Amino acid sequence: MQQVGITGGIGSGKTTVCRIFETLGIPVYYADDRAKMLMTEDDELREHITDIFGDAAYGSDGSLDRKHLASVVFSDKDKLKALEAVVHPAVHRDGQNWHAAQDAPYTLKEAALLVENGSYKLLDKMIMVFAPEETRIERVMQRDGTERSAVEARMKAQLSDAEKMKVCDFVIYNEGKKSLIKQVLNIHRQLK
Ligand code: ATP
Repeated sequence: MQQVGITGGIGSGKTTVCRIFETLGIPVYYADDRAKMLMTEDDELREHITDIFGDAAYGSDGSLDRKHLASVVFSDKDKLKALEAVVHPAVHRDGQNWHAAQDAPYTLKEAALLVENGSYKLLDKMIMVFAPEETRIERVMQRDGTERSAVEARMKAQLSDAEKMKVCDFVIYNEGKKSLIKQVLNIHRQLK
């Protein structure tokens, strides 16, 4: 069973596209959501995170203090690297177990930074969802009620679309011109 990655810049429409694959019976692993869950629920990962950030990493109710972590890693790149070094292997392991438990022609792994963090190399095929920057900014501002500058700051941490496309086997254009469903069906036919 092939493992296919699906990536794209913030607000490009990854989740929207994945929902279409799901209607075709393809299981999707939402890696960013799963990472957040594991950071709270995986005991080994909690220990690693506490080693890096101290007890302040978790609140008294046991929940991860995301704001604290975000403020530390924003100004301390070594801590960011240390965090990534413990989260990525945990998510990879979890994703492998999840994949092995599926019964489908292929599975999808969705994440914003699959290319940036190198995990695309462990996947069989890659799909990229593309939409122009301005469209993405407007969509995310509307979806999350955030400021333009906040969306632009997140974009800066991501590789350019041109760089990502180099390692992707398929590109889905989500700029409102081509039918998303047709594009998904075409890729689905080739993958299954
Ligand atoms: P993130 O990187 O933040 O996880 P994403 O790549 O998963 O985002 P989506 O959440 O799927 O992107 O899409 C961003 C927003 O744009 C959502 O509100 C979605 O409903 C909307 N959207 C996506 N595709 C289209 C489209 N073709 N036409 C109109 N709105 C769209």
